[in-house]
Amino acid sequence: MHQGRHFLQIPGPSPVPDRILRAMDMPVIDHRSAEFGELGRAVLEGSQKIFQTSGPVVIFPSSVTGAWEAAIVNTLSPGDRVLMVETGHFATLWRQMAGRFGIEVDFIPGDWRRGADPAQIEAKLAADSARAIKAVMVVHNETSTGATSRIADIRAAIDRAGHPALLMVDTISSLGSVDYRHDEWKVDVSVSCSQKGFMLPPGLGFNAVSEKARAASKTNRMPRSYFDWEEMLKPNAKGFFPYTPATNLLYGLREAIAMLLEEGLDNVFARHQRLAAATRAAVNHWGLEVLCQEPAEFSPVLTAVLMPPGHDADQFRKVVLDNYNMSLGSGLSKVAGKVFRIGHLGECNALTLLGALTGVEMGLSVAGVPHRSGGVEVAMKLLEQRTPGNSSPHLKAVST
Ligand SMILES: *Cc1c(COP(=O)(O)O)cnc(C)c1O
Repeated sequence: MHQGRHFLQIPGPSPVPDRILRAMDMPVIDHRSAEFGELGRAVLEGSQKIFQTSGPVVIFPSSVTGAWEAAIVNTLSPGDRVLMVETGHFATLWRQMAGRFGIEVDFIPGDWRRGADPAQIEAKLAADSARAIKAVMVVHNETSTGATSRIADIRAAIDRAGHPALLMVDTISSLGSVDYRHDEWKVDVSVSCSQKGFMLPPGLGFNAVSEKARAASKTNRMPRSYFDWEEMLKPNAKGFFPYTPATNLLYGLREAIAMLLEEGLDNVFARHQRLAAATRAAVNHWGLEVLCQEPAEFSPVLTAVLMPPGHDADQFRKVVLDNYNMSLGSGLSKVAGKVFRIGHLGECNALTLLGALTGVEMGLSVAGVPHRSGGVEVAMKLLEQRTPGNSSPHLKAVST
């Protein structure tokens, strides 16, 4: 029997704030009504602010997998070549999907301990004198490893190579948590979802679309129906959808956007950086190893921790769940059983994180995993100092 709130410390789906739960607790309305049109316009325009784009954002009732598919089928044709980077499990899944659509993927191998290397991408593009590569497709925050690729640097690498390839980025676990600029970084398709930085339940998939991507969608040869951008963009102009949308998730989305903008995106990003730094300090103190090896790419959203040899990460996660009612993220595919992941995104503040780290430290003791105690205190010291990111962003809204 578990009392109190479950600690959902996986890197998505992330916990849904009460304010969003209340915003979604509404009757379903007529999706052809004027009232719906206002909601539709509010979330379509609001989403642009979060992607930092003035271009269209398409919102599908779908998982991320659907939004990945939309990015591919609207821009590429069977037989096209693309460049992708093996940053981890999610990059590998997106690559598999591209293959199923007949795309020829040049997959730069990786060791799952760092982000995509801009220099390697530049070299590949520079060598492509025929300009056959149609797109560079990378995962911004690789949720399976806790490494965040440097998209601005990748953009610069593409520009240095003078290559016309589209840039498509999976911002699934970064959007609304890590600085991300669709327009400034000249990204052509940004793929995202509801259940991570937006703090919503799963069920919405997003594509932010550049003019260049939209132009590609007018000439590419790939059959599509449900995920066709143009079918969406026509009714979207007035806030409507071509089919019944996920109305109540859109109520939640309107609230989530308001919360992110009230806190201020810069404060949101700084809060995630702070929580991540405190987490790594605790992990280092315990004497455990962070999976990501490149400090410039440490993820603000999650920290993947390597188990010492001879100890199973899933057994440890079970001890934590059974004893403390907390879910930690599992290791996926190549790193299954070898790592556990601590999510620190979305509705997470200093005390939430300290609760989570306390559960990890107690779990290490109970599971008999060798470690040095006192990691939580080290994190406390780092989080003691009061900063804007340390206070509740939601107090203001509650009291007014
Ligand atoms: C969470 C996550 C996904 C999950 O996709 P679903 O289809 O919604 O299960 C994909 N990619 C990344 C990078 C993620 O973090």
